[in-house]
Amino acid sequence: MSTTTPAIRSITARAVDAPISRPVKNAFGVIRSAPLVLIDVVTDQGLTGHSYIFAYTRLTLKPLVRLIEDLGRDLVGRPIAPFDLMTEMDAKFRLLGWQGLVGMAVSGLDMAFWDALGRAACQPLSVLLGGSSRPIRAYDSYGAIDPVADEKDLRRSLDQGFRGIKIKGGDGDLDNDERVVKAVRGLIGPDIALMLDFNQSLNPSEASRRIDRLAPYDLHWIEEPVAAENLAGHARVRATSPTSIQSGENWWFPRGFAEAIASAASDFIMPDLMKVGGVTGWLRVAAQAEAASIPMSSHLFAEARYLV
Ligand code: MN
Repeated sequence: MSTTTPAIRSITARAVDAPISRPVKNAFGVIRSAPLVLIDVVTDQGLTGHSYIFAYTRLTLKPLVRLIEDLGRDLVGRPIAPFDLMTEMDAKFRLLGWQGLVGMAVSGLDMAFWDALGRAACQPLSVLLGGSSRPIRAYDSYGAIDPVADEKDLRRSLDQGFRGIKIKGGDGDLDNDERVVKAVRGLIGPDIALMLDFNQSLNPSEASRRIDRLAPYDLHWIEEPVAAENLAGHARVRATSPTSIQSGENWWFPRGFAEAIASAASDFIMPDLMKVGGVTGWLRVAAQAEAASIPMSSHLFAEARYLV
């Protein structure tokens, strides 16, 4: 362990398309594999900080690799001080904006920087940041399901110890949503949390109509009922919703969350490490959530949940 801040020796990125065991069907299609970009930041002490980002589609893999490596070349020799580097990136991209591949690339680099700092300190990052390694509550996440065909999988999730199940809706009409939610609630019983994700597929009026009809099934949250950018729509739905609203996986960087929280858009938030500005952005959003008494969980990157 060294007391000097490690510096960046090199940054490389690789594209992989990882198979997933259970394809995820949502309101807009089916995700059959996970196109990932793996990022390695080698330090002057010979340690490597690792991270990955989820490209959603193979189309963005090559541009992301190129962007990360080009950005990385400019950073060779710099001390790994993530807050300083984020300030520098913010200036570099202020006129372009965070949303899209730029924000994903910067977030991925930031995650690898923090990982390198954890390795240099011989500590899990959660411990380095003042937290602890501990068990966390987890739910098993499903796509749009068929309660009959998927019954075995659902039972296996419960056997594995999950105390919550998330499913997707909005791929059909309200009757279909109700049929599926009712069947899953019947199958998992009253003590398991059940969440429904609409993946931004509804308009505010339709969202309110569906949420009202689904109230008897004690949903723990309704996720992204309307377009992520539609903060006023979120707030409108939330104002009359008998069920808590969850959102945030598509809000970009801490300023995006500041806007959403100021708009009273959601009861819960779930930043995506790759869209929130990596660990640096995550910490800043966690502070906002704590101050506003908004429970926070993570989108996709389950390991981020250990950070706060
Ligand atoms: Mn979601």
